[in-house]
Amino acid sequence: MKDLHKSHKLANVLYDIRGPVLDEARRMEDEGHRILKLNIGNPKPFGFDAPDEIITDVIRNLPQGEGYSDSKGLYSARKAVMQYYQQRGVKNVDIDDIYLGNGVSELIQLTCMGLLNNGDEVLVPAPDYPLWTGAVTLSGGRAVHYLCDEEADWFPDLDDIRAKITERTKAIVLINPNNPTGAVYSKDLLLDIVEIARQNDLVILADEIYDKILYDEAEHHCLAALSQDVLTLTFNGLSKSYRLAGFRSGWLMVSGPKYPARDFIEGLNMLTNMRLCANVPAQHAIQTALGGYQSINDLVLPGGRMREQRDLCYEMINAIPGLSCVKPKGALYMFVKMDKQRFGLHDDEQAVLDLLRQEKILLVHGRGFNWPDVDHFRLVFLPPKDMLADALERMGRFFSHYRQE
Ligand code: PLP
Repeated sequence: MKDLHKSHKLANVLYDIRGPVLDEARRMEDEGHRILKLNIGNPKPFGFDAPDEIITDVIRNLPQGEGYSDSKGLYSARKAVMQYYQQRGVKNVDIDDIYLGNGVSELIQLTCMGLLNNGDEVLVPAPDYPLWTGAVTLSGGRAVHYLCDEEADWFPDLDDIRAKITERTKAIVLINPNNPTGAVYSKDLLLDIVEIARQNDLVILADEIYDKILYDEAEHHCLAALSQDVLTLTFNGLSKSYRLAGFRSGWLMVSGPKYPARDFIEGLNMLTNMRLCANVPAQHAIQTALGGYQSINDLVLPGGRMREQRDLCYEMINAIPGLSCVKPKGALYMFVKMDKQRFGLHDDEQAVLDLLRQEKILLVHGRGFNWPDVDHFRLVFLPPKDMLADALERMGRFFSHYRQE
């Protein structure tokens, strides 16, 4: 057989969270090394169990999950999603505006495929959750990165956004609470974004998968509730707040002026039909999750595990000479700055690889999140405190003598 190459469509698509550094970690594990993985936001392996109530309901409904469902998803689950957003102040949303998917990941890809023509531009944050850039690129679009400002609690730089809008700009992605920075945006900032979208006829793509993972009394404002005249697609799901990443269950809500968007919506419906439906047993989790006791609060309030782990990491990172980070107000991550001069940095992926080889700790380098410089990495603060303290001590040791030249 002659050599088989990947399609040209993949030429510029990157997804480094599960990329080459992880391959090296796997190789080391095969050699017998124990690697501490601070690289993926997957709560379950670190002892964050899903609420029992949800699991019980899914088991009870398993026999009903044998057949396909409606392509958009089960009525009861979509109704629960609709009511969730109505309660959060979203107007004019009905059951037909809700689509269930195999995780937010699938819905992001369907949306980009349905929305973008070749060369259409989408404003994507830098740093971003890289699936957004990948999905835009794979759909023939161009991800144009707008900067989030570390000096301003990682809020988006509105001037940079305005300066990057062209005639081809079709949409803007907002990730709030943010992966990888942990920023939670104020209502004023979100209203400014809505105004920019309004003035430039942009679709808002609001990724709100961490909307319940909030610290220090941070408040989450649902973007879709802030306007009725801007088409807003809201993405959310069970992976994080309900610790059910393995169920692959998420949803998309279309809100705002749907009549002018009817052709796009028709395309979205067709793409949804083409993948038949989302995993049905996991759809049965949605109604219970949204309606029941929100146990995530026990983890993020003072004394809660996630919050304590965040505090520990924040303190220990900032105590390491040459490292610093902004305190996350939400989500599961810190986007840590490395002092470029002190470490002689010219390759962040190399720094992460060196740390992996020397101290057996796995992180993701900043450029994996489309950050334009080589001076950041992302850390996931899901492991228990003793493991995190050990990892951060080892990182302190590593960075005390690290120099790239
Ligand atoms: N969006 C963001 C910002 C994420 O961080 C993730 C996963 O880490 C996803 C979407 C994908 O979520 P899902 O598990 O629902 O596919």
